[in-house]
Amino acid sequence: MNGLEALRNLPSVDKMLKNEQIKELFTAYSPYFVREAIRESLSRLREKIKNQNLIEISEHQIIEEVKKTLRDYSKYSLRRVINATGVVIHTNLGRSILPKEAIDRVIEVATHYSNLEYDLEEGKRGKRYTHIVEAVKRLLNIESVLVVNNNAGAVFLCLNTLAKGKEVIVSRGELVEIGGSFRIPDVMTNSGAILREIGTTNKTHLYDYENAINENTALILKVHQSNFRIVGFTEEVSLQELVSLGRKRGIPVMVDLGSGCFVDLKKYGLFYEPTVQEVIGHGADLVTFSGDKLLGSAQAGFIIGKSSLIDRIAKNPLMRALRVDKMTLAALEATLRLYLDEQEAIRKIPTLRMLFEKPEEIKRRAIKIKIILKRNGISSEVMEDVSMPGGGSLPEIGVKTYVVALKPNATPQDFAKTLRMSEPPVIVRIKDDLILFDARTIQEEEIPLLVKSIKDSMKK
Ligand SMILES: *Cc1c(COP(=O)(O)O)cnc(C)c1O
Repeated sequence: MNGLEALRNLPSVDKMLKNEQIKELFTAYSPYFVREAIRESLSRLREKIKNQNLIEISEHQIIEEVKKTLRDYSKYSLRRVINATGVVIHTNLGRSILPKEAIDRVIEVATHYSNLEYDLEEGKRGKRYTHIVEAVKRLLNIESVLVVNNNAGAVFLCLNTLAKGKEVIVSRGELVEIGGSFRIPDVMTNSGAILREIGTTNKTHLYDYENAINENTALILKVHQSNFRIVGFTEEVSLQELVSLGRKRGIPVMVDLGSGCFVDLKKYGLFYEPTVQEVIGHGADLVTFSGDKLLGSAQAGFIIGKSSLIDRIAKNPLMRALRVDKMTLAALEATLRLYLDEQEAIRKIPTLRMLFEKPEEIKRRAIKIKIILKRNGISSEVMEDVSMPGGGSLPEIGVKTYVVALKPNATPQDFAKTLRMSEPPVIVRIKDDLILFDARTIQEEEIPLLVKSIKDSMKK
């Protein structure tokens, strides 16, 4: 046989449809997709015959190609992965896993009509944000709340409303880049606010703020250094000092807090991170933070503080462009409720649970994975290591963890790729020639799937 014959010998779509093995596929896939998959597979094989000068394609090859095409059809683009990196708040992997309570609320609200913007008592139009106002007010002593699409949006909206064409004073030590090209100076410029940089990278004094205030000053902004620390010969002005300066001169003080932490991390053996309660307690007029970082809920940007400011922000036409949908509101309300009881929050909010988990508990899970791997003929070691739980959302402070370490036959980079391409995909850390699975971010119920993906990857 030659290539031309191989091409001629390829069966027709109709002939393939009569094949017994193809007919079996109808139980799992619709006739339309099976026919499409056959057509696409045959055309791909035709190209392959031509390009690689193949002289024969077996029926088995064709059927395998059709099956593969159907599997590809049914794969979603956005899907679950196993996070074995140890980074709890991993922006590229979706940041926070929602607590079950939040998922339940999302399903309830998404599968039914709701009182999203309907006042049940009055029987007329209500406000979308009332649902969140109540939930936040139960936790914090504040006047008002708004929620938008994310914290970047929250910062933008505040500046655009309160400081368009006016000056906003920020320390040079706080002109941060958060990642994904979100840079505070760029956001400020785009909002129409005029950036009034003061101080130096390492030192900013109260007199720098005092000297910068003029009749065109709209706001003093403090940006939390969420993903880095300046150490050594440093000085920054405390929020309390800024608040008293702002009060004296009649200028509101806004804090971009970034993470939105409601729990004192230090109390649980982690590093210091200012809490929302603390910042409000120090008298900030306006505070913004994310919904899906340390708060552990859906993507959102909170704006909390003084009614006089928030009422103005709520009237900004951009509010409509940045508004959140009902599923986000449902998830946020449920998550905020969990915070009423801090212990319950830590137990039920996955982000907090993973951050605070005791090393012995992480070790127990690592050992469990090792034992199941062993049962599947794969040898590994449990080792102590260091997790960077914050990703780009918290300073890079390592915390003790336990990992399952595996020495692959391939290069670690190649094996890591095979793991990423497996089903479900597994994202790992590499250390020297070892593949590390950090048990901190591996969920208990994911272990059988993790083992399956590792096993599949070893065969490749
Ligand atoms: C993360 C972060 C942002 C951006 O928040 P998103 O919710 O990701 O938009 C803004 N400011 C600070 C200080 C942050 O840490």
